[in-house]
Amino acid sequence: MELVVGGMFSGKSEELIRRVKRSVIARRAVQVFKPAIDDRYGVEVVRSHDGDSFVAVPVRSSAEILARCQPETSVVAIDEVQFFDPGVVDVCRTLVQRGRRVICAGLDLDFRGEPFGPVPALLALAERVDKLQAICVVCGEAGTRTQRIVNGVPAYYEDPVIMIGAQETYEARCRTCHQVPRRAAAPLAAKAGA
Ligand code: ADP
Ligand code: ZN
Repeated sequence: MELVVGGMFSGKSEELIRRVKRSVIARRAVQVFKPAIDDRYGVEVVRSHDGDSFVAVPVRSSAEILARCQPETSVVAIDEVQFFDPGVVDVCRTLVQRGRRVICAGLDLDFRGEPFGPVPALLALAERVDKLQAICVVCGEAGTRTQRIVNGVPAYYEDPVIMIGAQETYEARCRTCHQVPRRAAAPLAAKAGA
């Protein structure tokens, strides 16, 4: 199991596409999956911000990845893995047990700077982890966080993930330049019961 994580613009999709294309050169049967965002179905692509792309199957749940995995497939790649349900962890484990090479790419942190969905568990289980960094657009240091901007100002900690009618953008930023107004002092420690 391989994980490629980092903030937005860190090159996760680029790296996933690079590994997938190399598998094709090695004549391995490859399937790429990504979460279906809306009603689009059928064949789509994963595309990096640089424009490189590879065909991908949009799926609505982690169970659908298992169901759609072909017997001859030897490499399974999953992009935007942070958006999947918790079941994706067992799906990856099952695929690996069945002899597949599994490559997942996704955000390690959400816009609040907190661990994102199933990614922490996948990070722990993976044999190989690559944590990529973008460039902070404010200061030029390593961009390890994703800054969410709503209507021109940093998004509040408690802002809903989907804001209808709002103008939203995302930027790569470093730990220092990343702003989360109204973030509690130690939400992670509180969650863990510390
Ligand atoms: P990710 O999947 O992690 O969001 P992509 O693979 O889609 O990233 O895109 C990475 C590319 O984005 C880089 O190669 C570069 O061309 C471009 N890019 C745009 N803004 C930035 C930034 N702030 N830092 C680094 N790369 C950036
Ligand atoms: Zn910075």
